[in-house]
Amino acid sequence: MKENEILKRYGADPVEMTMTLLEYAGLADDIPGADAHIGIKPNLVCQTPAEYGATTHPEIVEGIIRYLQEHGFSKISVIEGSWVGDSTAEAYVLCGYQTVCEKYQVPFIDTQKDSSHRRDCGGMELSVCDAVSGLDYLINVPVLKGHCQTKMTCALKNMKGLIPNSEKRRFHTIGLHQPIAHLSCGIHQDFIVIDHICGDPTFEEGGNPLKTDCVMAAKDPVLVDAYACKLLGLTADDVQYVRLAEKLGVGSAGLAKARVLVLNEKGEILKEFAADGKEPYEKNLTSKDRMFEVSVDIDECDSCSACFSSLTEALYHLKEDGLLEEQKLSKIAIGQGHRGKTGEYGIGNCCQKFTHYIPGCPPKEEEIYKVLQEWN
Ligand code: SF4
Repeated sequence: MKENEILKRYGADPVEMTMTLLEYAGLADDIPGADAHIGIKPNLVCQTPAEYGATTHPEIVEGIIRYLQEHGFSKISVIEGSWVGDSTAEAYVLCGYQTVCEKYQVPFIDTQKDSSHRRDCGGMELSVCDAVSGLDYLINVPVLKGHCQTKMTCALKNMKGLIPNSEKRRFHTIGLHQPIAHLSCGIHQDFIVIDHICGDPTFEEGGNPLKTDCVMAAKDPVLVDAYACKLLGLTADDVQYVRLAEKLGVGSAGLAKARVLVLNEKGEILKEFAADGKEPYEKNLTSKDRMFEVSVDIDECDSCSACFSSLTEALYHLKEDGLLEEQKLSKIAIGQGHRGKTGEYGIGNCCQKFTHYIPGCPPKEEEIYKVLQEWN
């Protein structure tokens, strides 16, 4: 397939949908030899099944493995590390990956347990897990979904699962967008299969899945992220790291020159349209659909995604339960930028010098929900 193409397949069978896309794309011809060690990188950010809208459907990874094995490739690994605060080993079981990996005799590499090395990533030195160095070809399998800090997450940000937890924390202290963009200079993703089945357009942790029943494939992570922005009612300018990655030469965000090809079950082109044109099969979300308004002033400074997500989810559920309006708290601090500082109300161990703080690194959403009511 061409760099400026995005393939889509709608349906109800993710294994078949994925295999149809890979056949059309001619993936086998793109892999450098039958002996190549191929890494498949899903999103197992937390321990929730894919139906919640946060993690990659295991059926998509199964479709990739079946395609590769049927084309004679045997050196395949699934490689991933959950976010800070969740265990990859538990997500591996709960999200259905143990079943798939055992069925096809494919090893799973937990990057939370891997060693790491420093690597130049387009002029920024970052820590990358050692397992990445052993790969000849990387297939990225992100979920297209919203993100409480960066607004959108898809191909570029999914590479964060290939760095150690200490580096994930550090990303949040150095601006998040810059290191995400640079990471894709240091780790080349050769092919991308996007889970667009029911990603949550509001939060990376899921809970509000939006059914679209689609799997996509692309070669350019910047292009597919720009297209993901469009599907979420954003533009590439709304998500800083997309433009930064483009400037670093990772790919092109130019949707005007990109084509979307929708395939049928036989792998024939059903419809073709410009990537910046009207979407014939799904509704573009607006920012109003994605975001919820809260009256609480959050003093966020370099918070980890898991921590910030726990807070926003707790606030969301307080709002749903009609309790947010009653909150009398005017300001809540969160993030590594508050370490060693004092204040009144704070979330997480970083705010342990505050008069009131909720311990945990990150604290659980249920605990925040409970304590915010006590603080009220
Ligand atoms: S407490 Fe601090 S270090 Fe821990 S998850 Fe929250 S922001 Fe990150």
